Amino acid sequence: MNAAIITIGDEILIGQIVDTNSAWIAENLSLLGINITEIRSIPDKREQIIRTLKEFNQSVDLVIISGGLGPTSDDITKASLNEYFGGQMLEAPEVLNHIIDLFNKRGFVLSETNRLQAIIPDNCIVLRNPSGTAPGMWFEKANTIFVSLPGVPFEMKDIFMLDLLPRLTERINGAMIYHRTVMTQGLPESFLAAKIKSWEESLPENVKLAYLPRPGIVRLRLTAMGTTKNELEQLLQIEIDKLHKIIPKHIFSFRDEALEEVVGRLLKNYGMTLCTAESCTGGRIANLITSVPGSSAYFRGAIVAYDNEIKMNELSVEESVLLNLGAVSDKVVEQMAEGVRKKFNCDYGIGVSGIAGPSGGSLEKPVGTTWIAISSTKKTVSKMFNLGEHRGRNIEKASINALNMLRVIILEG
Ligand code: ATP
Ligand code: MG
Repeated sequence: MNAAIITIGDEILIGQIVDTNSAWIAENLSLLGINITEIRSIPDKREQIIRTLKEFNQSVDLVIISGGLGPTSDDITKASLNEYFGGQMLEAPEVLNHIIDLFNKRGFVLSETNRLQAIIPDNCIVLRNPSGTAPGMWFEKANTIFVSLPGVPFEMKDIFMLDLLPRLTERINGAMIYHRTVMTQGLPESFLAAKIKSWEESLPENVKLAYLPRPGIVRLRLTAMGTTKNELEQLLQIEIDKLHKIIPKHIFSFRDEALEEVVGRLLKNYGMTLCTAESCTGGRIANLITSVPGSSAYFRGAIVAYDNEIKMNELSVEESVLLNLGAVSDKVVEQMAEGVRKKFNCDYGIGVSGIAGPSGGSLEKPVGTTWIAISSTKKTVSKMFNLGEHRGRNIEKASINALNMLRVIILEG
């Protein structure tokens, strides 16, 4: 199956918004084995929309369109589609009911403009929009499927996942699709790819792999296509077991969840408590930990020790160590981790100190140099990381690495 993606909106063509929808749609269509032949952005212009539809009607089997479905006067996609497919604009009761429901839930009064969103071409199949008012629309003409989705990214994605994906999969080969996500930490994308290359190359034909990186973390999403769920579940489990043997320490979860949730669950299960002493991360580790509901059961508190005086006065870091080794050093983070653990009477303490940048680096300790220590009642260990140039990402990566170090140490008991 060949497909084209069209994004509609003047905002894209004047550079005011970046077209991230196309990339997301392309990735998700590729996972279905659909071949994307073109991605095109066009303005909110009636005749250009119609001309583009006509062109792709001759060259591809599937066209996914996003943008311009709103109720405002600049949104003309719906009228243009109606003109091209030769239908009639009618109020769809199922869409109207959904809009009324949505407004009731949010406590808003329905306006005439909102009501207009329920008026759609009568020759399309409605794709439900769980998170907004503009429905998706599915048309067919001369052996090409056209799908129109809203421009707002989360609405577009929700419709795609909820209603479009099942329809497309069914259409492709009466197949069913099954996803699994494996969460990895500690290997940058290119290193990870090199390490699991032969595993990736030996994946069965009907299994596709996507690398989805975030600072400090790479999610691996496996997608299998086949006829029954059981068969696909088993197939992916076999592949995931093989993967686990190659990178056992780097996998922190076999489902799509955050590292702070995994660490929180471990602490809770073992009945252990945690506190942090943070310099370069400025409290980000504490922020991640406390973003998980119920974290008060295991998290006791944090000290943001940015200034050396705070490190000495609050965490008992020795002045001589600071002078001799500098604030970004093994001994300092070890004393920070131990200091906060004792002060707050916890089972585990985290200490972090690094050069987040963009300035402050030296030949010996370039920007990105970060020391992380974990202190427990049994021992205190530290490790150095070289995280890179970018301040925001450094803070994020340092926090994620600290959490993963803690995870491994908890598991080692
Ligand atoms: P609405 O009902 O909100 O008007 P719509 O379907 O009319 O939705 P647009 O008006 O085209 O969508 O876009 C709404 C917003 O969605 C844009 O301001 C932009 O923030 C975002 N958006 C639109 N198209 C894209 C795209 N291709 N990539 C990323 N974001 C987009
Ligand atoms: Mg709009």
